[in-house]
This record gives sequence, structure tokens and C-alpha cells, in this order.
Amino acid sequence: MGNHTQALYADVIIPLPLPQLYTYQVPEEQRARLQAGCRVVVSFGKQKTLTAIVHHLHHKAPEHYTPKPILEVLDDTPTVNELQLSLFSWMADYYMCTPGEVIQAALPSALKISTQSFISLVPGVRPESHSLSEEEHRIVKLVQEHGTLQYEELSRKVRNGRLYSLLKELQDKGLIDIFEKAKERYTPKRQRKVRLAERWLNDKEALNDLLVSLEKKAPQQWYALLKYIETSGILRDWTRNQAGVEKQALHANDARIKPAAIQALVKKGVFEEFEVEVSRFAAIDPHKLQPLPALSPAQQEAFRQIMHAFFEEKKDIALLHGVTGSGKTEIYIHFIQQALDSGSQVLYLLPEIALTTQIVQRLRKIFGDKMGVYHSRFSDNERVEVWRGVQSGRFSFVVGVRSAVFLPFDNLSLIIVDEEHEASYKQHEPAPRYHARDVAMMLGKLHYAKVLLGSATPALETFYHAQQGRYGYVSLQQRYGNARLPRVIISDLRAAQKKNRLRYSFAPELYEAIHRRLERQEQVILFQNRRGYAPYLCCEDCGWIPKCRFCNVSLTYHMHERLLRCHYCGHQQGAKGTCRACGSSRVKNVGIGTEKIEDELKLLFPEARVARMDLDTTRGKDAYQKLIDRFEAHDIDILVGTQMLTKGLDFEKVTLVGIVDADQLLYFPDFRAHERAYQLLTQVSGRAGRKEAAGEVIIQSRHPEHPVLLDVQQQAYEQLVNRELQERRTYNYPPFVRLIGLQVKHTKEELAHAAAHDLVELLQKKLGKARVLGPDVPLVDKVRNYYLRNILVKIERQGINLSAVKKYIAYCIQQLTLQKDYRRVVVVVDVDPA
Ligand code: ADP
Ligand code: ZN
Ligand code: ZN
Repeated sequence: MGNHTQALYADVIIPLPLPQLYTYQVPEEQRARLQAGCRVVVSFGKQKTLTAIVHHLHHKAPEHYTPKPILEVLDDTPTVNELQLSLFSWMADYYMCTPGEVIQAALPSALKISTQSFISLVPGVRPESHSLSEEEHRIVKLVQEHGTLQYEELSRKVRNGRLYSLLKELQDKGLIDIFEKAKERYTPKRQRKVRLAERWLNDKEALNDLLVSLEKKAPQQWYALLKYIETSGILRDWTRNQAGVEKQALHANDARIKPAAIQALVKKGVFEEFEVEVSRFAAIDPHKLQPLPALSPAQQEAFRQIMHAFFEEKKDIALLHGVTGSGKTEIYIHFIQQALDSGSQVLYLLPEIALTTQIVQRLRKIFGDKMGVYHSRFSDNERVEVWRGVQSGRFSFVVGVRSAVFLPFDNLSLIIVDEEHEASYKQHEPAPRYHARDVAMMLGKLHYAKVLLGSATPALETFYHAQQGRYGYVSLQQRYGNARLPRVIISDLRAAQKKNRLRYSFAPELYEAIHRRLERQEQVILFQNRRGYAPYLCCEDCGWIPKCRFCNVSLTYHMHERLLRCHYCGHQQGAKGTCRACGSSRVKNVGIGTEKIEDELKLLFPEARVARMDLDTTRGKDAYQKLIDRFEAHDIDILVGTQMLTKGLDFEKVTLVGIVDADQLLYFPDFRAHERAYQLLTQVSGRAGRKEAAGEVIIQSRHPEHPVLLDVQQQAYEQLVNRELQERRTYNYPPFVRLIGLQVKHTKEELAHAAAHDLVELLQKKLGKARVLGPDVPLVDKVRNYYLRNILVKIERQGINLSAVKKYIAYCIQQLTLQKDYRRVVVVVDVDPA
């Protein structure tokens, strides 16, 4: 039992990379209200004021300092629930980062107020019409004068300990916006509406008289009123007046009605104006929802087997290994419905690039407004709406990208991880460097939920665990309907070159195949995994290659923009036609990027409509979607792109997929290169022949005998897996060991080098030489002015205490950076690098 005379303390998570929790004192008046998971405002350090999350409450005063009081409590009910707090601590421990870094990644920024926050007046509000206290008035005036003020500035001017509360009240009154970046305003979306003022409802004769008089004297207003009566449907049901009609809807698309006429009716007291908060997500009429798709016999069998694995074999995790086009989504839909029927929540994870409107629309038609979508392309406001919607029960089903694992679920019974092999589930920068599939498994454990992994090309680790019986395994090797898997042809680039039969980057097979599709008015997807025009330029006279000023890597040539761009740090500079070393104008471009392919196609097939899909053409908010829509509408014949176009896209008329150059995938220096190449080639091939029309895939390579290409051709996934697992076992790679990558960074190369050596020595003291490899000089050994050295720690899967090893690694890093020379050394820890 809590003793109320005893002081109460809160240990909070500060959203900064700090190693521990901080203790604050809970003010008397907040005792009753405060719970774990609530957001609080605390002062930290000299100047900073931050939003922190209460981790837990206790009565134990800190020994070495007097805790500061919590300045404010922002929530009446927790923003973060207990299950999330458990998940977040697990993530911090497992991924060797701080709880603050996890919180920073987890919370949409609009839920955090920090010293970096901006405050501005809501456009169009008139502060005079609100009753404000003197202090509120002063704040509003200051904000009004400055347009936008950073919180810090405002706090310096106002000097009021309750500034946060005051701002929050002003925000609730709809007067001010608080937002993180100048662009992203934290505002609920509002709609301005009108409805008939009360007295006209009770006096229909008067309303009639009004109409008659308006018709003569003010026809515009008459129209507006008629339009209102019609759109609102009040004649059928007077209670509909309550909901009113959006102002915009009255005058938009109707030249007879000007906004001024509506305003005039408001002035006369015919209309009353009001505002409502509306969702940023368009509502769908529940009567228009579609029934679940009927499953084919093969799909039904897969469904039954998954049920069996979950509920008879009691597996918590099952792998659905279904070829591309087998209808995995349809099977998921049936599981989702079943989970929702039981009253629990469902999370459906998709990799970033696969989360297109194609899939969202498909699911929306079935699940309607129960479904929330959580996407990084969304604004912060939309993300907050989903967060709050999960809490309120509005969304019991969320389809989202990796960060959706952070949402405040409290009752999950099913998590689907689609395309579970996708590398983009792994976050590389910044910490937490988590893998959403692995986090999903932990999340499933916390909720006692089932986890369904799906892929046509499972990750080796996943397949191995399924083979070992740790996960249930269900295979579906047949495409839905009459669609068959495409025929794969390997085309020998070297032979074509010898015979002088290459047309630019195209050997005869691919060239002729494209030609045939264009004649038959079918569509083509061409894959080249390099954006830009050419990977680098080279002077033919002196051999000079333009490199990035900040990274040790050549600059990619982007011809269309006449730019040289660093794909590591984003630095760019103009591309001059001449060599900077010797002045020669004989500078050639080397290698092939998507831009070059696009240009070549325009020369080879001048009548074809060619478009390109890569990072450069999809930067704008809707650019990606527009490209997909155009391709779907067959406004594009040939779509050239990077791996963006490998995922989940389902186009009926694509009957040819070409891989322009498979070799750079096959010879990439990474232990996962073969696995990745197989997955990528199979996935991109899977875009062909998804309906009746037979599909064809042509892979161009200078090594047509390469075993991975043959595996792709024969769809021999298990052959590839067995060969690769053999290698991994021999050379000690996952899934047989766990990896922790350490990257040592310093602006001086000698120091990066020396520190990495010392760190290896420290680590080897307890872990031994066999477990600590390196330091290695990475392929690109300088990025953003930091020199890099890599260390790899390999840990057995059994018989060793993983968390003790992690503690020891953390300890070694700390010892290293305590040394005077190494104070500025940065060590990045990546658990399960991918
Ligand atoms: P996968 O995700 O396994 O690659 P999809 O779920 O995208 O496959 O299905 C491939 C295509 O087949 C889609 O166009 C889908 O609408 C269709 N399809 C699959 N199963 C069914 C079904 N049971 N009923 C109707 N259409 C289906
Ligand atoms: Zn030169
Ligand atoms: Zn660079």
C-alpha cells in the first residue's frame, strides 16, 4: 500500500541517447493522476525542457542527488501502455541502445514537445473572440507578433513555469499549433460547416417565407439555401441538420453560389457556422464492404495447415512459403477476419516499398474503417491519428511498415509479417537498429499472439528455424487461378558481346522479347539495381575518377540533372565535361544505371512509352503512386527501375521482366549476397504473368552458369538454401551463430584504426580470438568525413549467455572511449546486422 506521506518519485525515459532512467519528484497535486506510460514535461540539464515517459513510480529517493520536480503531466491516461514499456525495454537491451532512443523512434514527433518545438497561431483564428487570461493573452500576442516561435525563445520571453500547460490549453482551445518542424503542424484536421440556425427548424413557415423573399432579392443566397436543403437531406429527416454541410461543398463546383452568399446567410442568422474535427482518412460506407474472397482449394488447404500449426501443434510462429501470385494475401485476409471476430487486434506488417495503395485498397474494401494505415510517407498528424485510434479502439487492425510495431496495441492476437525476408525490415540508422520481424516475434510473445510469416523466398534463417521445427511450416507452390510461374531464360552477355550483337545493354534475346511485347501491346518491367546514369566517370587520358569530398567513394553520374551525386552522404556537384586533373575532355562514363537504360530504350524503341522508377523519380509525396497508377492504366509500356519495383506489385499486362545485369547482385561482397540475389531475382520475376497470359523472364549475365541463376531458373529454392546453409555452417554465419557488428568511427584515420585495434584486443580478452574478427577496412572506408573500421563478433547460439556478452561489449566500448585519445571515437553497435 502506498504511503501518502512518503514522497513519490517517477523514473522517466528521456528521449535522448542516455544510458539510464532519470528520477524526478512527483508534485503532490499530481500523485493521484500520474501513471506509468504518461508523458510528463521535465527540465533536463541547464536549458532543456523535454517530454519524457514515466517508466515506473516508486518511493525510493535517489542517493546522490535531489531530484527535480516534474513540471507537468501531459496525459490523463497513459500514451504508452505496459506492454509497450516491456517491449521497449527489451529492444533497448537486445539491440544495445538506450531506452530514450527507442522512445524517440517509437513516438510520432507530434506526441513529443521538446525545446525544438515550434509554436504558431492557427491560421484564421481571431484571439479576440476567446476569453483568455492575462497570461494567455500575452503568449498569444507574442506568437502573433513573431509568426512562428521556437519553444525556447518563447520560454525566455514569457518566463512562466506553467508555460507548457498554458500552451496546451491554448492548443486545446484551437488557438495555437505546436509542431516539430516548421512544416509539420500538429493540428487535428478541421472542417468548417454550416447548418440552419435552430429557430428555422421550429418554424417551417418562416423558412418558407424566407425562401420566397430571397428568391427575389438575393438569388445567390436563395441558391445557397436551396443547395443546403438538398445536400443536407433535412427534408427527409430534420435531425440531419445537426451534422450540417461542409461550406466548401456548398460553393465548390457551383458557379451560382459564391462564398460571400453563404457568409451573408451566416450574418443574417439563417446559417450557423461551426467546426468539426475530421479524420484524415476517408471514411468508407460500411454497406459497400466486400465479403471475404473465397479461397481456392489449395489456399484452403494452406489455411487449414496454418490453423493446425498454430492450434494443434501449438506453434506461436508459422511460415507460409507461397510462390509469388499464390494468393498469400487472400489467406491473410481470412486470418485477419477470424482474429477480428474474436474481438482482438491484428497487425499486418509490410516492407516500406510494398505498402502501396494497391494492397491498401484491397484490404480497405474488406475491412473498411476498422483498418488503420501506418506509413512513413504519412504526415506526423496522420501517424498520431493512427496511434490514438489504436488506443481508442477505432482501429482494431493496422497495416503498416516496420515502425508500426511501436503502436499502442493492448490485445493483439495475430501479427502478419508479409515478405518477411525483406531487408528493409531492418532499421540501419539511427538506433534502435531493429529488425521488425524479430521485434514482431517479441511483440507476439508479450501479447500471446500468433505470428504468421509469409514469403515466396523466405530468409534463410526463417526457413532453417522452420526446418528445425521451431516454427510451423506451410508451403503453397501453386499460383492462383490459371496463372503459371513465368519461364526464365538466362541470356549470355559475354557471348553476345563477342559476336558483336549487343545493342547497348541488350543482348538479342531481351531486345527481341521487348520488341514482341510492344507489338502485342503488353507491358515490360526492366530491372537494374543502380540508379543514376552511370556508377562513375573516368578520364580516358589520366584515369581520374571523381570522388566524393566527404566519402571514399566515386560519385554517381546523374546525366539528366547534370550532376555528380554521392549515394552515401547525398553530396552533389555539377558534372563538367572535362577532367579536373588533366583538363582532358575525354571523360567517359562507366557502368549502367537506370537513367542510361531509360535513354537506351528511347533510342532503341522510339515509339515506346518509357518511365523510370527509382529513388530519384519518386521523391515527391505521391510520385511513386502516380507512376504505379500510370503503369496500371497502361500509359507506360516499359517501366525501368531499381528494387522498388520488385515488391508486391500486381499488374495484369506485364508479360516480360528483364534483368539487365544480374552480375553485380551475384558478386556483391557479403555473406548474404547469394540469398539476396535469389530473392530479388525471384521476386522481380514474380511480377510477370500474374494472370492468364504466360510470363517470361530474361536474366542477362556474363556468368550464365552461375548456380544462383540456375536456381532461379529452376525455382529451386531448397537447392539454394541447402547449399548456402552448408557454407554458413562451415564458415560460422547465421543462423548458426549470432552476429554483432561494431563500427568504429573517427575523423582521423589513424585514430579510427588504432581505436579499432585496441577495441578488438579488449574484446578478445574475454571473448577469445575466434569470436572477435577484425578490424576490417570496409569497402567504403570513409563516409561523411568519418573513417570507418569494422569489427564482427560471432556468438554461438547455445551454451553462452548472450546478454552477458552484450554487457561485456558495452563495457569494452566504455573503457575504450574513456581513454583520452579516444574521447571522440564513436562506436556504432549493430545487433544482427543485415
Ligand atoms: P502473393 O501475395 O502470394 O504474391 P496475391 O495475394 O497478390 O499473391 O494474389 C495474386 C493475384 O491473385 C491477385 O491479383 C489476387 O487478387 C488474385 N487472387 C488470389 N487468390 C484469390 C482468391 N481466392 N480469389 C480471388 N482472387 C484471388
Ligand atoms: Zn584526366
Ligand atoms: Zn559522400
